[in-house]
Amino acid sequence: MYGKNAWNKYQDKQEVLKFNEEYKDFITKGKTERECVSYAIELCKKKGFKEINQFTSLKTGDKVYVINKNRNICAFIIGKEPLEQGINILGAHIDSPRIDLKQNPLYESKGFTLADTHYYGGIVKYQWVARPLALHGVVYKKDGTEIKLNIGENPNDPVFCITDLLPHLAKDKNTKPADRVIEGEDLDVTIRHLPLNEEEKESVKKMTLNLLKETYHIEEEDFVSAEIEIVPAGEARDLGLDRSMILGYGHDDRVCAYTSLRALLDAGTCNYTTCAFLVDKEEIGSVGATGAHSKWFENTLAELIALTTEYNDLKLRHALTNTRMLSSDVSAGVDPLYTSVFEGKNAAYLGNGICFNKYTGSRGKSGCNDADPKYIAQIRNIMDSNSIHYQTAELGRVDIGGGGTIAYILGNYNMNVIDAGIAVLSMHAPYEVVSKVDVYEAYLAYMAFLKEAKL
Ligand code: MN
Ligand code: MN
Repeated sequence: MYGKNAWNKYQDKQEVLKFNEEYKDFITKGKTERECVSYAIELCKKKGFKEINQFTSLKTGDKVYVINKNRNICAFIIGKEPLEQGINILGAHIDSPRIDLKQNPLYESKGFTLADTHYYGGIVKYQWVARPLALHGVVYKKDGTEIKLNIGENPNDPVFCITDLLPHLAKDKNTKPADRVIEGEDLDVTIRHLPLNEEEKESVKKMTLNLLKETYHIEEEDFVSAEIEIVPAGEARDLGLDRSMILGYGHDDRVCAYTSLRALLDAGTCNYTTCAFLVDKEEIGSVGATGAHSKWFENTLAELIALTTEYNDLKLRHALTNTRMLSSDVSAGVDPLYTSVFEGKNAAYLGNGICFNKYTGSRGKSGCNDADPKYIAQIRNIMDSNSIHYQTAELGRVDIGGGGTIAYILGNYNMNVIDAGIAVLSMHAPYEVVSKVDVYEAYLAYMAFLKEAKL
């Protein structure tokens, strides 16, 4: 069903609401890519999945997952057709914009201990000050011991914040352009403050270090081998009197990651091998070992081929080129406060179901994956035959901005790929907005795609 409000489809909204409760748990607990991978592993194990190293061969119906450096994961269900016929992939990213601690973060000023940071991805800096923040991450000791940190989520935990200047004294600051009102180097997090009394010999930073050592067994130098992310504290919440939306951190792109993974788990064994590919580093260009540009996915597919048949390189090339993929990533929903940046006929609306983008990019579609219309026709047919509400959109008016996804990266293997995701308001803000019915329609759309997309 093209371009119509999807709530009308549901006489009984219970299945939509129940699924969204499960999704809220996922984004409340999965605030880093590592936490999302851990959550995904738990969901997979509940459905009978095993890690790839537990298999000596793979056959139809086998459920297998592969982890890469605890920052990205692929889950597969082996289908009836050989892998050379291609597979059906749902690819989403589990990294979100945030603020990371530097490797040498701690310093002292005016009796406070602060932590120096370097932001990650396209944050709007002024949105991150004067709000409760939590600290999530891992610290590796020299002997390889991993210490997991999660401070600020439990109601009994303390939280952190980046302070802001009072308006009374902000005359100069408030004349700066919005992207300079808060400078990147000034996004320093307040970690600790206790008044020093006369006998207090130790500096406040020393006291902080003592506390870190006593409570978390961390020494200052251990920050060198740490990955600590500062994220908004607190749970995802229902939004609106009708509770039709969710306000939460990291919908981009954990909303598509969760719905993609659930679709894979719930679709069961399909004709073709199915895959949920949850990837890292999309927000900074899909680079590095755990981003979509990594050779890891190709290597993983090679491993699968070797476990199902006699391996040769041509079989891998055939598997890649014959593959169908949905690049499950969010779209910019039309915001009633900012309608002028959208072209209404080609824009995504909250509530109208999953959104397909033939292309993204900027300035003349630059950097996009322009999906094959014949492939799009196949997808339309799958959506309509499963009564799924869907819409199509571009990322805003022509020449007003733009952006990209992982679609073109997998497209480089000659796969058929199209962007398909959920419309979001306030994208990249500490709290983003999605419509519950879109979350559910995307889940249904992804499941239909896994079952029915074909060569
Ligand atoms: Mn995204
Ligand atoms: Mn993004």
